[in-house]
Amino acid sequence: MKKKQEINCVVGIDLGTTYSCVAVWQEQHCRVEIIHNDQGNRTTPSFVAFTQNQRLIGDAAKNQAAANPQNTVFDAKRLIGRKFSDPIIQDDILLWPFKVIAGDNDKPMIMVKYKDQEKQLYAEEVSSMILTKMREIAETYLKSNVKNAVVTVPAYFNDAQRKSTIDAGVIAGLNVMRVMNEPTAAAVAYGLDKRTDYDGERNIFVFDLGGGTFDVSLLSIKGNVFKVKATAGNTHLGGEDFDNRMVKYFVQEFKKKNKVDISGNAKSLRRLRSACERAKRSLSFLVVATIEVDSLFQGIDFSSSINRAKFEEMNMDLFNECMKTVESCLTDAKMDKGRVDDVVLVGGSSRIPKVQQLLQDFFKGKELCMSINPDEAVAYGAAVQAALLSEDVKNVPKLVLQDVTPLSLGRLIHGDIMNVVIPKNTCIPVNRTRSYIRVQDNQTSDLIEVYEGERTRASDNNLLGSFTLSGIPPAPRGSHISNVCFAINENGILTVSANNNVSGVLNAITITSHRDRLSSEEIKKLIQEAEKYHIEDKKFLRKAEAVNALDDYIYKMTNTLKKKDINLKLSSQEIQQIEDAIAVAKNLVDENNKLVEIEVLEDHLEGLESRMNHIIAKTI
Ligand code: AMP
Repeated sequence: MKKKQEINCVVGIDLGTTYSCVAVWQEQHCRVEIIHNDQGNRTTPSFVAFTQNQRLIGDAAKNQAAANPQNTVFDAKRLIGRKFSDPIIQDDILLWPFKVIAGDNDKPMIMVKYKDQEKQLYAEEVSSMILTKMREIAETYLKSNVKNAVVTVPAYFNDAQRKSTIDAGVIAGLNVMRVMNEPTAAAVAYGLDKRTDYDGERNIFVFDLGGGTFDVSLLSIKGNVFKVKATAGNTHLGGEDFDNRMVKYFVQEFKKKNKVDISGNAKSLRRLRSACERAKRSLSFLVVATIEVDSLFQGIDFSSSINRAKFEEMNMDLFNECMKTVESCLTDAKMDKGRVDDVVLVGGSSRIPKVQQLLQDFFKGKELCMSINPDEAVAYGAAVQAALLSEDVKNVPKLVLQDVTPLSLGRLIHGDIMNVVIPKNTCIPVNRTRSYIRVQDNQTSDLIEVYEGERTRASDNNLLGSFTLSGIPPAPRGSHISNVCFAINENGILTVSANNNVSGVLNAITITSHRDRLSSEEIKKLIQEAEKYHIEDKKFLRKAEAVNALDDYIYKMTNTLKKKDINLKLSSQEIQQIEDAIAVAKNLVDENNKLVEIEVLEDHLEGLESRMNHIIAKTI
């Protein structure tokens, strides 16, 4: 194997709910290359599976999902940065074949069985495994180490979800140079081609409907400057929800036809889900799709069909929700739909004809732009951003990307009021400071509770963290108590600090003390775990290779021995010795012989090789 170069390449990774994609900026060709995986596919399923012997990631994990549903994990992105008790998670759990329980601080923990032992995994850990796989795909292709990456997130991801994504990168041994919003990345992919085709400003509307998330962004492109004007979305709406609807429909149909309920059977549900996803894809270009699952439950075959109209009917409320989000994004940007120049489709689910029709109707018959690959555009844009951030890459177009914060950020003030410091859709990076007054006479401390969200009552929003500015000299009610500064960096991550004008007392938090986030100790532990998994995976592969090599050699030697001329030149004692060695080797490669060490296999192969050389020497 060729040794990896010591230079570090930078890549863009689209860490999707259902599929992930990695891309790199190619200096010599001045363009982005989407990197194919070991199966030759340009996208990799965001699946991780655990078996009695090994851990599988990507295609290998998805391919065995039906046989091992309880230990095949997907949708980690739906869990990331959320609490176990979140009603959305509670709904999802009902449909997942793998088990999720509440961990410390209400953090969801995924339960799997690996090598016959129960394991509990954080969503960040599963995401880190997928990121590791994407890194390895890139390293194999580039024959170089990959350390730095831009990782994309839905524009509507909140502070906790962004931080958890960065944590997943750290566990995967990556330096996440930037978390980039998915629609912005797609706009870069689209705009890079088109930016020279017109003069002046162009308004681009990106409609990104993926496997698990939905995002829209309105951007303006002027020369090299890509400026996001507004963003909106739903971090829990996508292709999987359409699949779920179809699964529920067919579970009912199966129950009606056969008087049995498969809803508690993980294996049957997994197989039905795969068939539904295939049918859904077919319905994007056919009007009727068939569903065939042999022996779906208790030996009963399932055969049915669904037409496009039925599929649309069962998902119409979700499609309409998408359109409402489109409208609210334009309202937030204060832009009339007539001023949108291009509507760009991104994400696998944007291929659904009804979605396209509703969108086209909304934009009064405007032709939708389908010139970019909806599965690859996000990774493409991320690779451009990664190249822009890398000092080593020289010939990348000097784009300026200006993004916005998707949610309003503020603090609780007297009466449970949300006092917004940074309104949603403010350009980032940004710093805003507000001054606050005492609400009581001689108040010497100020409790600062930081929230994100759009509700007027602070406690209806999402609490990010809190801290107290204390040791302030007493003064009457109504006098100055604190200046509170909210700062959001390029990754959309918030730091809040506070001081007092008179005493200069200062206190600050990056909302890292957030109770949903992994502590640095936990991350350190997970990095060690990741290394352990990596070593075990490598060991498993090495053993599989050693077994194969020995098995091959047994076959070769047995055939050689069968040749008459060779057989005649060997003594009966020699033949016996060779046959004994082959018998031992056969026993070593026996599937049931799991405990045999790699070294034993390799030693035995060496022994067989030397015997073979001996035979050859004797017979020539
Ligand atoms: P993404 O997250 O962008 O990779 O999108 C993946 C989602 O797109 C999955 O839910 C797929 O089932 C869905 N998808 C891919 N191709 C099609 C298609 N032709 N029609 C409908 N949905 C599709």
